[in-house]
This record gives sequence, C-alpha cells and structure tokens, in this order.
Amino acid sequence: MMKKIIVVGSSNTDMVIKAEKLATPGETVIGGKFLMNAGGKGANQAVATARLGCPTVFVCKIGDDIFGRQAHQQFVQEGINTDFVVVDTENPSGVALINVDAKGENCITVAPGANAHLSIEDIENASSIFERDNILLIQLETPIQTVEYTIQKAYEYGLKVILNPAPAAQLSSSVFPFIHTITPNETEAELLTGVKVTDFESAQKAGQVFAALGVQNIIITLGAKGAYLKSADFEGIIEAPKVEAIDTTAAGDCFSGALAVAIYEEKILSEAVKFACKAASIAVTRMGAQASMPSRVEM
Ligand code: ATP
Repeated sequence: MMKKIIVVGSSNTDMVIKAEKLATPGETVIGGKFLMNAGGKGANQAVATARLGCPTVFVCKIGDDIFGRQAHQQFVQEGINTDFVVVDTENPSGVALINVDAKGENCITVAPGANAHLSIEDIENASSIFERDNILLIQLETPIQTVEYTIQKAYEYGLKVILNPAPAAQLSSSVFPFIHTITPNETEAELLTGVKVTDFESAQKAGQVFAALGVQNIIITLGAKGAYLKSADFEGIIEAPKVEAIDTTAAGDCFSGALAVAIYEEKILSEAVKFACKAASIAVTRMGAQASMPSRVEM
C-alpha cells in the first residue's frame, strides 16, 4: 500500500460579513458584503497536504446538509480521499459566523455541530488506514478524548504523529510521549508549557518543557519571524522568507500541512521547517484559508 498522510480534524463553513462597523447588542448594521469560505483547521490542513502532492485521507464529521455536501465536493476536487468523511444525520455541519469591520477588527461565533461529535467509534471505523509508515496530522478542533485516543492509537500502530495543538487547549500529559512533532504557535506553547514565548531564549525554555513531557521534536511558530525548532540534531530559529503579507488566516494550517508533507518525504527536520516556512510565506500573500494554500508547482 502507498503510504499516506491521514488528517483527522474539523471542517467548517466560514460565513463572513464585512461591514463598516460591528453590530452592538440589539443593533442591525446594513450595507455589508457577504463571503462564504471553506474552513476548519482539519480541512485546511488536508487541502494543504493534498495540494503539495501527498496522498491524503481526511477523517472528519459533517452534517447531512448543504454545507456538508459542499465541503465534501471540495475535498473530492482537491483529490483528498473521503472514504472516512462521516455524515452525521443528527447534527448540522460546523459553521463560523464572522463579522469584520472596516479596520479589520472581527467578532466570531462558531457552532461546531458535527465536529463536536467526531467519536472514538468513528476513528475505530477508520482502523484500516492506521498502517505503519503513514503519518497522522491532527489538531484540537474536535473532542479532546477523540484526539487523545487517535494519537495513542496511531503511535501504537507505528505512525508518526504530528500534533498542531490549535486552538489552544489543555491535554492529558500521558499523550505527549506519543507525539513525533508538535507545532504550537506562541499562544498555544504558553498554554501548554506555562512559558511566555517571545524570543529564542523563551522558546528554548518552552522547548525544554515539551521535551521533559516526552515530545520528540518541538516546533514553535513565530509568525513573520519564522519558527523555533528543537530536534535531536538541531536547535534554533529558522527564518521565514520576507514577503508582503496581506492575510495570515490559516498560515499555521499551511505550515503544519507542509511540515507533514516534508516529514512524509523523509526530509530532515531543519529542511522540513524551511519547506513549511516557504509554503506558509506563499499562503500569507493571498486572501483566504484553503484558497491560499500553495501547490507543489508554486513551491
Ligand atoms: P494563524 O492563526 O494566522 O493561522 P498561527 O498563529 O497559527 O497563524 P503563525 O506563527 O502566526 O501561526 O504563522 C505560522 C507560520 O506562517 C510562521 O511560522 C511563518 O512561517 C509563516 N508566517 C506567518 N506570518 C508570516 C509573515 N508575515 N511573513 C512570512 N511568513 C509568515
């Protein structure tokens, strides 16, 4: 069997209204522009790995509704294997309502819907893809018990586990030794380690905490500065290419997706982080989440 990247995570539809101002409670603001974008950290990362040319299987839960069907169609168009995209007949697809004002300030409400029902049973039903040599890429937008179960199962089956611990949430300390590479941003690193990350020295301290918890390789993304890496044979900051960023939405998703691709291709980690920084630097020069993910040719 050809090896694959398995992405387990969320799929959402982002409904964005851009208007002069954000509505205050009880107020109606007229005159906005409406945009509908495919999102969800899991789906964004699956699109990133598929566009970079890797066989990708996406495990997620969508509702039996127009948003779920549209998302499913999009996955197929991207060449993603959807055999384990589960349709939940009781809960709607995940939706995010996003209001943005003229200054770019936003206000977001998320209804996770089916994402909040991705269960251990759904993962069990996907057991056939937990094969040695595959890579698991997972985030924290689905129930934590399911995430922790999936990480342990993948580790036991011999898969390399990449955890993007976003959005920030606490995890049981027992899962850290199962993680091949963790990819928090500065905020997520602080929540998980208690160290406020602002520069190399503080990243190094946070890296030591992750290592003591049992994580093998630690990457902390640092926005336009690039990313801190601590692995067996390298510790330092890998700089991001200098670009004119216009929309950093899903920069972290692009980074984790591209990193998974480089690990899949067995690049050494310092090269893998360079590859991920390059991919994310392309994504931030374009609008949107999934729309901004680069293809292999562009790389
Ligand atoms: P987001 O929440 O916007 O998806 P994040 O907070 O998860 O992002 P960041 O650390 O901001 O993650 O960015 C992830 C990676 O994207 C960085 O490590 C870097 O490689 C790249 N990146 C982000 N912003 C820029 C930028 N302005 N210029 C170049 N590269 C960038």
